[in-house]
Formats: sequence, C-alpha cells, structure tokens
Amino acid sequence: MSAGTLYDKVWDLHRVADLPGGTTQLFIGLHLIHEVTSPQAFSSLNDLGLAVRHPELTLATVDHIVPTTSQARPFADPLAEEMLTTLEANCAAHRIPLLAIGSGRQGIVHVIAPELGLTQPGMTVACGDSHTSTHGAFGAIAFGIGTSQVRDVLASQSLPLTKLRVRRVWVDGALQSGVYAKDLILHIIRSLGVKGGVGHAYEFAGPAIAALSMEERMTLCNMAIEGGARVGYCNPDEVTFAYLRGRPHAPAGEAWERAVAWWRSLASGPEATFDDEVGFDACAIAPTVTWGITPGQGIGVDEFVPTPEQLAPDDRPLAEEAYRYMNLCPGQPIVGLPVDVCFIGSCTNGRLSDLRAAAAVAHGRQVAPGLKAFVVPGSEQVAAAAQAEGLDAVFRQAGFEWREPGCSMCLAMNPDRLEGRQISASSSNRNFKGRQGSATGRTLLMSPAMVAAAAVSGHVVDVRHLLAELAAAG
Ligand code: SF4
Repeated sequence: MSAGTLYDKVWDLHRVADLPGGTTQLFIGLHLIHEVTSPQAFSSLNDLGLAVRHPELTLATVDHIVPTTSQARPFADPLAEEMLTTLEANCAAHRIPLLAIGSGRQGIVHVIAPELGLTQPGMTVACGDSHTSTHGAFGAIAFGIGTSQVRDVLASQSLPLTKLRVRRVWVDGALQSGVYAKDLILHIIRSLGVKGGVGHAYEFAGPAIAALSMEERMTLCNMAIEGGARVGYCNPDEVTFAYLRGRPHAPAGEAWERAVAWWRSLASGPEATFDDEVGFDACAIAPTVTWGITPGQGIGVDEFVPTPEQLAPDDRPLAEEAYRYMNLCPGQPIVGLPVDVCFIGSCTNGRLSDLRAAAAVAHGRQVAPGLKAFVVPGSEQVAAAAQAEGLDAVFRQAGFEWREPGCSMCLAMNPDRLEGRQISASSSNRNFKGRQGSATGRTLLMSPAMVAAAAVSGHVVDVRHLLAELAAAG
C-alpha cells in the first residue's frame, strides 16, 4: 500500500467519512460542468427537490457542441442550441458561474480552469468528462465522473470513492528536439497498455517530468486515463508555482506565500512508498504515432506497423481488427502514409505552447494540395494570446483554417467531422473507431508539431527532419 505520496495526503485531507463496504466519502474542492453531462444531472436534482450545495465551488463552460466556424446564436444545429440554452437556464437557477461564449474566458473545460488559476495543488477536482485527469498536472487528485455522480456532487459536494493504488512512473533523461509530452504519454501507454493503469493513480516523476512546462504536464496527465489510470498527477514544484502566480483565482499577497508553503508540503517526499514503480528513458523516445484503434497502438515514427508475431498473443485479435479498419498492412512503414485532414486542438494539445510548436513547423510552408488543415484554440484566452503573437497569421498564410475555440473534431459533437473513410492526423487523445464523426473515419494521434508536419507534407513525416531543415536555414 502506498504511503506518504501526494495522492495519500490529498486523499486524507478530503476524507469526509469512511463508509461501510470500504469506500470513502471524499470532499470535492472544484466541480467543473459542461453542456453534455450536466442536463440529466440537473434534471434528476430538480426531481429530487435538491439545491446545489456549493455553487461557489462549481464552474460551468460550453465546449463540446460549439461550432468553430461561427459561434453566433442561435447555433445552426437546434440540438446544440438547446443544450446550451439548458445549461444557461440550469446555471442561472442554481447560481453557478458560466463562462459564456464571448466572455473572453470560454473554452474547453480542461483548458480554462488551469488558465484561470482555479486548479491548484492539493485539490480534488471532478468533472463529467474522462480527461479531468488533466488537472493532476498541478498536484491535484482529478478524475472524470458519470452523470449520476455529477448529480451527487452537485447535491453534496462529495462522492463515495474507492482509493486507488499508486504507481510511480519515473522518467529519466530529457525529451529530444522534436519530441514532446504527447510522444511521451503515447510511449508510456504503448508500453504499459490501455488497461495497464486500471485501479491505479499514476504519479509522473523524475528529471524528464521536472523539466516539463505546466502545459506539457497537462498533456501528459490528460492522457493518463487513456492508459487506464483514472488519475494522473505531477508533484507541485517551482514550475507549478510560477504558472499559477498572478492568475485570477490564485492566492495573492500573504495568502500566496502560505499557499506555496502548503503546496510544497504535499509533494511525495523521499519517504513515500508506492504500490508499483516503472521507469522510462526520455532520451530513447521518438515522435510517436498511433497506427490502430486505441491510443496504445502506437509506434515511433521511424518504426513499422507491428506484425502479429511481434505482439503478445493477447494483443493480436485487436491488431487484426485495427489492420482491417485502418487499411494498413503489418510491417508497412507509418512514414509516408497519406492523410486527408489535419486537426490541431483539443484539451490534450490546444494550448499556446502547442500552437507555437505547430506554427514553427508551418511557418513559411504550405498545406499540401487537397488536404484540409485547421487549428482550434483550446480557449478564448489561448486564441487571444496566439493572435497577439501572430500565430493565426502564420497558420493562415500556410493554408490552415483558424477557428473559434471548442472541442471541435476531438469528438465531433459539432459540425467538425471526418467524412467517409478520411484519415486524419490529429493532436487529440482518442483514435477509437468513429471517434471523429464518421463511422468509418480513421485517426492517427500525434503531437501538434507532427500534425503540422503531416499537413505541409501530405503524409506522415518525421517532424525532426523538418525542424532540422529550419535549423539549417538559420
Ligand atoms: S477536447 Fe475532446 S477529450 Fe477534451 S473535453 Fe473536449 S471532447 Fe473531451
């Protein structure tokens, strides 16, 4: 059993009661809601005649269903309009703040809470969305919940939960040029499996993690859930504090110094013990691309689609399914695979540093003929910051479309969708069958820089070669 870890400390600090049956009632410090998983929860709450227990610890935004071409109301899709209208009415009735479109603060739920300084070390954070693990980047215990749990948190600000085991994922070395946090997490999932983290929280630690920016740590923790770990986190450190300082909801003045001292004390110390430990060498990781239908079916860009013989017997049936669905042959290189659509965005990779990395590749180049490429900032703040430094112009000049913030083609609950058998290079987090809006559409997950490289090449390419050309050109 783990002891002395950040996970153990935060768990103990939020324990309301130990329940019969072995679960713990845990207090939720921040509850994030959006238009997709909240309507039924509010409806159930209203049926029971219950009020929202802590509206001041609850925050709403709209992200999944918003169109990214024009966000003028009413939306062209009446169902999307109805979902937003319902969210607005529920928030008004229960006095929950809603970051509306045009407020300057709307965006994907896992982008806006950190950028406002709402997500802080030592918190518990819940949201009706799997990728709530993102917030663990700050040293919070953050996890996705189902609709009935959204109702329970609205009503009680707490949840009965089973404590997870803690696996430390130690990463030595440093990521090389052209290799990003997205590649690191795809490599980890490829190695440990999509179910490898079931029942676990992943503590990401080691020199390579300490060297990551907060935005990179968010990318890493965002996809912990794709490796089966409901919670992924990094210990808070100077990088965390520097990111939070001065943000609208971060402590200020004397409260800041007290908060930093407390946050520092929460980190897993040298005395911490873990249920399990695994290690990686960041130096050995290449830009990574998925070839199949789960985030665990990934390879280095310089590798070949694995043959059944190279896989464990248990992995072969899914690989056979993936070869057929993706129309790929075992043993073929992933480099050179043509793509139809290139999408840069999502709660995994729709932040400013992601757009900078992609723009550096797109600068001075042109999107390949016949290919659709578009960039969707993760929030209105990301969009404004990117525009202030001219990234939108770089993308537009290269032939990318520059869109309004939202989830866009990550899930395609909006007009951004693949068509037919189109294949996308995508900076999002799931490559499941039909994930991007077409029942037969295909998704290759990769870093934003790799997506930009695919866009200007027309096919999967090793971004390191394009970066080397840039460096040689001075
Ligand atoms: S970007 Fe994708 S994964 Fe993230 S919240 Fe939106 S739909 Fe969910």
